[in-house]
Amino acid sequence: MGKVLIIGAGGVGRVVAHKCAQASDVFEDILLASHNLSKCEEVKGDILRRTGREIKVAGIDAENVQELANLIKTFKPNVVINVALPYQDLNIMDACLEAKANYLDTANYEPKNVAHFEYSWQWAYKDKFKEAGLIAVLGCGFDPGVSGIFSAYAQKHLFDEIECIDILDCNAGNNGHPFATNFNPEINIREVTQNVKYWENGEWKETPPILDPQSVHFTFDYPVAGPKESYLLYHEELESLAKNIKGLKRIRFWMTFSENYLTHLRVLQNVGMTRIDEINFEGKNIIPIKFLKALLPDPAKLGVNYTGKTVIGNVFKGKKDGKEKSVYIYNVCDHAEAYKETGGQAVSYTTAVPAMIGAMMIIKGLWKGEGVFNVEELDPDPFMEELNKRGLPWQEVEFKGKLPDGLVQ
Ligand code: NDP
Repeated sequence: MGKVLIIGAGGVGRVVAHKCAQASDVFEDILLASHNLSKCEEVKGDILRRTGREIKVAGIDAENVQELANLIKTFKPNVVINVALPYQDLNIMDACLEAKANYLDTANYEPKNVAHFEYSWQWAYKDKFKEAGLIAVLGCGFDPGVSGIFSAYAQKHLFDEIECIDILDCNAGNNGHPFATNFNPEINIREVTQNVKYWENGEWKETPPILDPQSVHFTFDYPVAGPKESYLLYHEELESLAKNIKGLKRIRFWMTFSENYLTHLRVLQNVGMTRIDEINFEGKNIIPIKFLKALLPDPAKLGVNYTGKTVIGNVFKGKKDGKEKSVYIYNVCDHAEAYKETGGQAVSYTTAVPAMIGAMMIIKGLWKGEGVFNVEELDPDPFMEELNKRGLPWQEVEFKGKLPDGLVQ
């Protein structure tokens, strides 16, 4: 039916390639391209062993727009899935425009020299994609991604008006390492050490970062995983959902962190290992966070001994037919099962399956449009159906638990 080019053969890229290979009725031809060709070859061998399918591979520097545009022109994919790093988003969008290909990613653009992410850089491509008659889908992993799809579904089917959304992301897994990040360490640490923001009554409110003694957190009782300390964190989908979910009064994002994780991160931050500026070390310029990445476990290899589950979902509060209503929609994903199926752990898996489904929506013509879209602007129904079929089944329940009304510390 269609062809897909996947860029990035890391933790997420591996699982995207596996899931596309499994959906052979949709993805007839798959090209996996990344910095390091040997990583692509390794994934290709694994897919061949598990499914008997041959995929194509290529080495590429996605920051070289012309080189990438040439690769796209030669392969002619229906859609390019970008699961490299946020630094490459704009280069890959430029190459898609030049070579006339649809685009999809899982994380918004972030410049290398400032730890700051926002959608404005990519939203600025709206007209260019429109004029080219192409669709670019932004943030189609789990969060951002499914968190937006759940919101669109709740808006379409469950509520007349959604007042509050709380996105709750719990990793109750154990990877056996004293300290490891579940996706690219550099991107992850930049994200979680930032100042926290949430959106309320039409404005952004700031609270201290998760490492600060004044950080905002509370204990949420997750299905399957049980009670876990959950920290208020700024996450990119808050920006697009605050804009796209009409009538919304408040949106927040919470993520679980263990005391062990926070202690390690605090020490690393205090000694300067999370710095993103260059320092001179023995006559050579190095960036401490990049050096730290080289020392930490590769998230793509974490799956081997990973046990436990992720539980990620949204709590919606609002009104239907004049009555107050609260609904919780969530998914539970098992690290060991994800590893058995694809060689990736549950954080890679929960990111990759939605990316594959988003590409499927484009190839099947179920998501149509010209321009740049966040996932909540597209039809959630066929996507929700595929989540159930492709390894991320979801539950919808009445929410009877408690969430902080005022902010707790
Ligand atoms: P990894 O670091 O494991 O993988 C990134 C891959 O991109 C690596 O294979 C790397 O190659 C490749 N790459 C980096 N730079 C380039 C380049 N210039 N040209 C070509 N390839 C390049 O990261 P993850 O797989 O953990 O994460 C991938 C993406 O998914 C990130 O953007 C992350 O933010 C996002 N993500 C989204 C989530 C969501 O729910 N929405 C959740 C988790 C992650 P090499 O190693 O050879 O340098």
